[in-house]
Parts: sequence; structure tokens; C-alpha cells
Amino acid sequence: MTHLSIIIPAFNEEANIAAVVARTRSVLDGLDVSWTITFVDDGSRDSTVERIRVESVADSRIGCLVLSRNFGKEIAIAAGLSAAKGDAVVIMDADLQHPPETIIDFLAAWRQGAEVVLGQRIDAPDASRRRQLASNMFYPVFRMMAGMSLEAGTVDFVLLDRKAVDALNRFGERSRFTKGLFHWIGFRTVIIPFDCGVRTGGQSSFNFRRLLRFALDGIISFSSWPLRIWSWVGAIVSASSIIYALYFLLRTLIHGADVPGFPSLIVSITFLSGIQLLSLGVIGEYLSRIYDEVKARPLFLIREEIGNSSQPDVNRTDTAA
Ligand code: UDP
Ligand code: MG
Repeated sequence: MTHLSIIIPAFNEEANIAAVVARTRSVLDGLDVSWTITFVDDGSRDSTVERIRVESVADSRIGCLVLSRNFGKEIAIAAGLSAAKGDAVVIMDADLQHPPETIIDFLAAWRQGAEVVLGQRIDAPDASRRRQLASNMFYPVFRMMAGMSLEAGTVDFVLLDRKAVDALNRFGERSRFTKGLFHWIGFRTVIIPFDCGVRTGGQSSFNFRRLLRFALDGIISFSSWPLRIWSWVGAIVSASSIIYALYFLLRTLIHGADVPGFPSLIVSITFLSGIQLLSLGVIGEYLSRIYDEVKARPLFLIREEIGNSSQPDVNRTDTAA
């Protein structure tokens, strides 16, 4: 019999645990599969873990990996994937914005041979205009920079075949952009649209700044374009300064020397130092990520396991190389 593992990263989701368990269970019980739900508690500061413990006592198919602190959603997903045992693994949010009923379609697509089934959000009613605009801008920019087209609106509501899970478990990188990785690994991919509901309780933990940071992480971990563009900027600036120098030479030969313009001097100095600082900043962004990777700290640490989950191999990055 097929075993389906459901992974749910949860950060301060006390208001949603009971609802997400009830709704997901009723969907899963209607399928001809055996299943487990594994929450990954990402350092919640509310009673999320206690709520999950109650569910786990009542139903042994429900369990939780409790991380030692908040590591961020991407790392929580990595923790869940490394613990998942299923023939297929579904990752979904705890706030019911990823409707569990969609799993039925995911499973059908998987049975027809899909190895990665991506959920595509058709509307997010509680997303702000600013957030929607930013999200609409992100996909073309990402496509241009990374040379890889992410289907707009695909989110990390996904079903992965065992092969894809094993592939993702070999990625040791810390600044993970999971959506990009789903695409990078290849495999037969099918996209299934779903209605993104409103968060059932609690608050979104992604404010605009955090999203921007996330987008930057995504671009930087999939593209070296921002790093390389400075050679071109440098070439263009040098070429134009040579032309400018020739122009001055000719003017001096024809009209004789005059007092050079003070404003143009200041403008060119500030402009060029701006460009230099900017390019240094970009190098810094990459360098800090290289530093993070080189330290090779464990991706996550687990305080406790509740119920079904089994200790994943935290040091798996060593064997991944
Ligand atoms: N989440 C997490 N760690 C974090 C932030 C969020 O595990 O540091 C989980 C959260 O509990 C939820 C999912 O990631 O299950 C999506 O988060 P949220 O609903 O806040 O994001 P949004 O839907 O607004 O993008
Ligand atoms: Mg949400």
C-alpha cells in the first residue's frame, strides 16, 4: 500500500493545529493510502507544540519534529523532508491556505506518473496589493537572472515522489530557495491550480521586508548575474571616460585651456564611488552567503520528536558532497 507523508512547517500556529489536522485527516482517510502527518515546529513561542502533542496522543499517525529554535520555513521544510518516509511526500502550510482537498488531485497526478506536483495559487484574497505587485515582478526578474522560468504563482504546496525527496535531501545549502530547487531538480512536473484561501487563524509571519529578503536569497542562490554585471558596467564607464578625455584634449588644442568645471568633477566622483560601493555591496551579499556555507554548520537542530517522526540525519550534508 502507498504511504503518504504530509509535512507541515508550523511557526506560532496554535490557532490552526486542530483545524488543519481535522480537515487533512478527513481527506486522507478517504484515500486508499496509509499516511502520517509530521509537523515541523519551527521554534514556536506559543502553545503550538502542546496542541500537536494532544493530537499525537489521540492519533498515532500524527507527530512532530520540534526544532531547537526558529530556523525559518525553508529549513523547516528541509528538516521535514529528511525525516519523511513516504513513497510520496506532501508539503503544506499550517494555516489552511493550502486546502488539504487538493491532495486528492496531487495524488492522482502522481499516480499518472508525475514526480513533482506543484500547487499553483490562483488567488490569495488576503495578500496586499503591494505584495501582489512584488510577486508579479519577482517571476520575470528571476527568469531573466536565473535563466530558469518558475511558473508564476507556484508555491511550496507540493507533492514529491520518493526520487525527488531523495534528490532534495542531498542539498546541503543553507540559504535555500525551495521553490527554485523544486524546479532545479527536474523530474516530470505537473502543475495543479488551487484556490488559496484566507489564513484561518493567527498572523502571517512574512512581512514585506522578510519577503524581499527571501526574493533576494532566491535570486542570489540561483544566479551569478548580479556579480558579473560589474565587469560590463566597468567597461562601459571606462570607455566613456576615454571618449570624454579625447573630447577635452581636442577642446584644449582648439580653444586652449580653461578652468575645468567643478560640478562635473563632483558629479563624476560621487557617481563613480556610488557604483563602486554598490558593486562591493553585491560582492558582500555573495561573500556572506559563501561564508555561511563554508562554516558548514548543521542545517537545523532538533529538541524533541513527538510521535511518528524519526530522527533525521542532521549531518547528511557530509555525505551529500
Ligand atoms: N513558517 C515556518 N517558519 C517561519 C515562518 C513560517 O515554519 O519562520 C510556516 C508557517 O507556520 C506556515 C507556513 O510557514 O505553515 C507559511 O507561513 P505564513 O502563512 O506566515 O506565510 P504566507 O502564507 O503569508 O506566505
Ligand atoms: Mg499563510
